[in-house]
Amino acid sequence: MVLGHATWQEVRDLDRDTVALLPTGSCEQHGPHLPLLTDTLLVSAVAREVEKALPNDVLLLPAIWLGASSHHMAFDGSMDGTEVAYAESVRATLACLATHGFHHTFVLNGHGGNTSYNDTACRRHKAAHPGHVVGHSGYFAWIEADLLDKTLEGPVKTIRHACEAETSLMLHLHPDLVRMDRARDDGLATVPPVPGLVWHFDECTEEGSHGYATLATAEKGRALFEASVAGVTAAMEAIRQGVALFPAEH
Ligand SMILES: [Zn+2]
Repeated sequence: MVLGHATWQEVRDLDRDTVALLPTGSCEQHGPHLPLLTDTLLVSAVAREVEKALPNDVLLLPAIWLGASSHHMAFDGSMDGTEVAYAESVRATLACLATHGFHHTFVLNGHGGNTSYNDTACRRHKAAHPGHVVGHSGYFAWIEADLLDKTLEGPVKTIRHACEAETSLMLHLHPDLVRMDRARDDGLATVPPVPGLVWHFDECTEEGSHGYATLATAEKGRALFEASVAGVTAAMEAIRQGVALFPAEH
């Protein structure tokens, strides 16, 4: 069920074992060739497909688009929810779900800058509701390494920013929003000399993207998208069935 399309009575009548799925994205620069809402569009597309596969088992929430994006604010149009306020918005959303009796909640993330704050929000929520199943992960984490190896041609076999992977996903899902003629391989010369440095994208890229965007194709995007949807769907099914936690011998 899609929360935003349902009535309150339809939500009232839902089985409380239903998994509430909260996508989190951003509205931040994605180089010269992708739109600002890229992360939100991509994670929303994965989550929507998961809901379509499990309409009776998943309650899909609207995506939180105002992410933690302070590292992109040098680029026009980028919006930063700020880290603490962002984490609080996720925690408050999870708290509303608990108020309505939902005890299976999962945050599906589309923006790396949100990751640690999603973790904070989920840990606070779990502390408040120890019996609940609560989790979070990026949608990209469900794509297995061997598929990434054979799908991505560039040397970076994961997701960066407005990169080969993200641009491919956008070419598959929203080709009309991709300015492929402006794509460039960017941010490749920078290797932070000290682990843990906090840096901004205007310090390490020319035009905001990070990775091999010029290698992107819609076909690669389709393969990555389908793998992510399959992985997230299986995970939500497992949570719905109450088998998220296995005894150690399994
Ligand atoms: Zn992105």
